This record gives sequence, C-alpha cells and structure tokens, in this order.
Amino acid sequence: MNPVALIRKNILRLEPYSTARDEFQGGDISVWLDANESPYQNGVNRYPDPHQRRLKERISALLDVKPESIFLGGAGSDEAIDLIFRVFCEPGVDNAVAITPSYGVYKVSAAINDVGLREVQLNEDFSLPVERILTATDEHTKLIWICSPNNPTGNAFPKEEIIALAERFHGMVVVDEAYVDFSEKGSLLHDIESLPNIIVLRTFSKAWGMAGMRSGMAFAVPEVIEYFGRVKYPYNMSQLVQDELLRRIDGGTSDHIDEIKRWARIMYESLPEAECVVKVYPTDANFILAKVTDADAVYDYLIKNGVIVRNRSRMPGCAGALRITVGTPEENRRTLQLIKGYGK
Ligand SMILES: *Cc1c(COP(=O)(O)O)cnc(C)c1O
Repeated sequence: MNPVALIRKNILRLEPYSTARDEFQGGDISVWLDANESPYQNGVNRYPDPHQRRLKERISALLDVKPESIFLGGAGSDEAIDLIFRVFCEPGVDNAVAITPSYGVYKVSAAINDVGLREVQLNEDFSLPVERILTATDEHTKLIWICSPNNPTGNAFPKEEIIALAERFHGMVVVDEAYVDFSEKGSLLHDIESLPNIIVLRTFSKAWGMAGMRSGMAFAVPEVIEYFGRVKYPYNMSQLVQDELLRRIDGGTSDHIDEIKRWARIMYESLPEAECVVKVYPTDANFILAKVTDADAVYDYLIKNGVIVRNRSRMPGCAGALRITVGTPEENRRTLQLIKGYGK
C-alpha cells in the first residue's frame, strides 16, 4: 500500500513555505543578512535549524531509524497528533477510529479539524477489539488510533494484533507509544518499513523525564514524514530545546525506568491490601489504574492529604477508577499508606 495516496489532495499540491535557512545552500558564510534577525549575539538571536538535522542524526543513531523517518515536534507529541489529522483527513468528509477509553487528545484534535471520531470501546478486560475496530471503518476512514501501552488502562496490546490491524486496514494506523519504554511487550518502531501504513508516536515527556521540554517524535516512512515537514510550522522547535535535547539525550532513559517499573509492581501488589480498592489492573506503563469503592470520595480524600491522582471514573469501562502515576519511592509509600488509611 502507498500511504501517499491517502494524503489530502490540497496537501499533496502544497507549495511549502521556504525559510531563509531552507534557501541557503551551504558555502562559507560569515555575514548572515538573509533572515532579518538581530546581528547581536545573545544565544538565541538566530533562527533555529527548521529541520533539526543534528538532533535527528542523534535520535537516528540512538533508536536505529533513518533520519528521514523522523518528525520532531516542539509542542510534544500532541503536535504530531494534530498534524496527522491535518495531513490525512479532509475536514467534514473523512473520519477516524479510536479506542476508548484512551488518550483524550485524539478526540479534541479530531473535533478541531472537523473530523468525525468513531470510538470503539475496549473489551471488558481492556483487550483490543480488533474485529469491532475494523467493522467501525468505512471508505472514508483514514486513521485508526491505537495507544499502546494505553492511557489510562495501562496495558500494552500484543504487537501481532496491531500488525493484523495494519495489514487489514486501507488507511493509516497510528500507534502512540508514549509509554513504550516501560513495557516489555515491544514496539512497532521497526515495522514502519514493512508496514508503511504505520505511524509511531513517541515523546520525551514520560520515560525521558522531560515533559517541560515539550518535544515529541513521530516515525513513518520518509514519503509520509516529508509531508509532515511541509505542513508543520517552519520553525517548530526552538534552538534552546534542540540544544538541550542534544545535551541530555545521551543520558538515556534507563536509571529511573527500572526504579519506576519496580515500584509499579509494588503498587500493583500492595494496593489490593487497601479496603477501598476493588480491583487493580496490570500495567505496562508508569501508572496504575485502580478501581475503588467511591472514586470521587477517595480522590477528594487524597487531595486533602496533599496527593493528587487522576480521577478517570467517568471514562467508558472505568467506573470507580483512579489513575495513579508512579512517583518517587517516598511518594509511593506515602500514597499507599494514605489509601490504606482511607475510611479508618
Ligand atoms: C503523555 C502522553 C503523550 C505525550 O504528550 P506530549 O505532548 O508529548 O507531552 C502522548 N500520548 C499519550 C497517550 C500520553 O499519555
């Protein structure tokens, strides 16, 4: 399948904005008078590289993907989510399918772009309803959104099921892997060549510990990434962020990941000891979904004690559920102790 055939016609025809730094073809320049910048050096007086070349080279080596398969967003992976709707979905005509409960940004972004979002509820055990997802598609469905590990349920879906979806669907399957570094169930990052209708999303916000940086990544075949490059804001990642990411990226994700995974396990095993906890779901992420006797009351009680979790009890299939992020060992101990003390 050729993913370029799915791109909106106006985007295929688009003549992208050409920045001063695009038109500069190389050479020995010492006087830069092409971009109406201030000539006085202060660290940020020059426009950044619109293509983030050095950063992409580094990420390419780190994750073993071609630089041309990488899109970087300076507003987190939320930027990539919006871009995907804009590139593939004709407003008012095309639609997308997403699982529910899942990450709320897909729905908001679909609505902003006037794209119908058909939500397919996960099975009761939060497994992937592959057949129901495919049944929800029609000839105007351009995208299927799969978040794996899924937020807020915490579980990752088997790779084979996502691959089966991609093989049987005539549009793009977007796999949001924001939490994949916490999971043992594998990534689809290295399947984009064999299945060119897959787009993988990653973020620096979770396992990398840089939510404040607002930077995310999308990976797809170069033909698709090329169109992302045409549609994105020209200078969509600041020089400060590019430099800081280059500086920090080699430190990797690892130290804290093991500690967080260890504590996710401890939380999973200890939370059922609390009287108010009805059920705890297994997690492949850095948070735990727990059903409690009275979600609103436990939520308020935790806030009164200085701890905030996410009340997800109004999401489909999540009645009574709180989503608890794994914190530092001390924070986890305190939270466990508080929950065990609820109603006492
Ligand atoms: C947190 C999260 C993201 C990350 O968003 P950023 O904009 O990169 O911070 C993406 N997808 C899911 C499912 C998330 O939970």
